[in-house]
Amino acid sequence: MQEVKSTKLLKETLEAAGFEVEMGGAGMPTNLWAKWGSGKPVIAISTEIDALPEGSQTPGSIARKPLVAGAPGHMEGHNTHGGVATGAAFAVKTIMERDKLPGTIIVSFGPAEEQLISRPFLVRAGYFKNVDAALIIHIGDNLDTGYGLQNYAAISAKFTFHGKTAHGANNPWDGKNAVDAVELMDIGFDKLREHLRPTYRAHRTITMGGVQPNIIPDKGQIWWYVRDATAPAAKETFDKLTKIGEAAAMMTGTTMDPPEFVASAWPQLGNKVLSENLVENMELVGLPKWSADEEAFAKEFQKANDKPTSGLAKALPANKARPQGAASNDNGDVTWVVPTGLMKFPASVPGIGYHAWPAAVTPTSSIAHKGMASGAKVLAASMLDLLTSPKLLDAARQNFEQDTKDTRYFSLLPADAKPPVDMNKATMDQYAPELSNFYVDAAPRYH
Ligand SMILES: [Zn+2]
Repeated sequence: MQEVKSTKLLKETLEAAGFEVEMGGAGMPTNLWAKWGSGKPVIAISTEIDALPEGSQTPGSIARKPLVAGAPGHMEGHNTHGGVATGAAFAVKTIMERDKLPGTIIVSFGPAEEQLISRPFLVRAGYFKNVDAALIIHIGDNLDTGYGLQNYAAISAKFTFHGKTAHGANNPWDGKNAVDAVELMDIGFDKLREHLRPTYRAHRTITMGGVQPNIIPDKGQIWWYVRDATAPAAKETFDKLTKIGEAAAMMTGTTMDPPEFVASAWPQLGNKVLSENLVENMELVGLPKWSADEEAFAKEFQKANDKPTSGLAKALPANKARPQGAASNDNGDVTWVVPTGLMKFPASVPGIGYHAWPAAVTPTSSIAHKGMASGAKVLAASMLDLLTSPKLLDAARQNFEQDTKDTRYFSLLPADAKPPVDMNKATMDQYAPELSNFYVDAAPRYH
């Protein structure tokens, strides 16, 4: 929600390239929605640009060396998404003008993917209503795609209990212990685990656990994530969890606020037809030609992180259905309202896991830049296929209808949910002055 600098750069870059850019959609100041062209078909690129807390790292340094100690940084490489998305969009626009192709291209940068926030709000606000096909891009260590269910549905919410303070020894009979309610909710859910589908995941942390033992706590809070292979299954478990919370309040004579919704996501549903088209274009474009220096750096980097020293990707992965992962991405919601192809591009070093500072070593390297260029070419090629082949678009739509016929999209957002736009504001207020010494003063332009 603090992607202020990034969205400003992307807005100016896209506007200079002739796109119409809207900021602030669906109540999020850093939401960027760019558009060029007119009429059908409407093809959208959907991606993210946010970073992660404490990820600051000096580019190219294999040893831990934050640029600004404690500051956030790109330890997943979402910074590479901007170049791939805008580069492809500009290339496609240029060809559409040259060849007078009808249609509209959209570039959507949604904020706060790392907290699973923005896309359910964008979908609810109707942004994807007129989109005929979408392509979701993400950094990876190869050109890759997948179809079917790719990851998990998730609902994240906080449960707050209110009791009554009293002296723990003098007059405990006057108190009502809100942390007891938290504990009973936890125990109650443990009893439910026996009856849940084997596919579920649920994890929690106690965010308010009292102050000191001789004060009976009047406030207790527990933050839950509930996940499952499908959104309806996650919702079913979440509703049971809420009932357990209400029961815990009853047992302790406390009260429970309605669940404070934090985030939600549907599992990503990759469209098989679009995935097959992406594979064709990946074979056409091919992997980057890595230099001897890049290959040597990758191996040294892998060795330093105790990973196999396989170097950089040299062959495309086999095109097969992938097992469903248990993590989540909020752009899953987009895939249930629009036929969506999923694409990864080879801008990171194989074996180096995300959400850890080593992943922040390479996202501005020549490895990342080459991978971004290949990704942009594949993305542009697939967008052109979608713009010029009604047959492909029809087949993707039919595949989508088939995939979604038993599970129709519904929003996991409570009716009154609003995006938490102040999320991470305090952190950025703290670090922005020091980080600004490292901002790149550039105005990239496409020609
Ligand atoms: Zn990501």
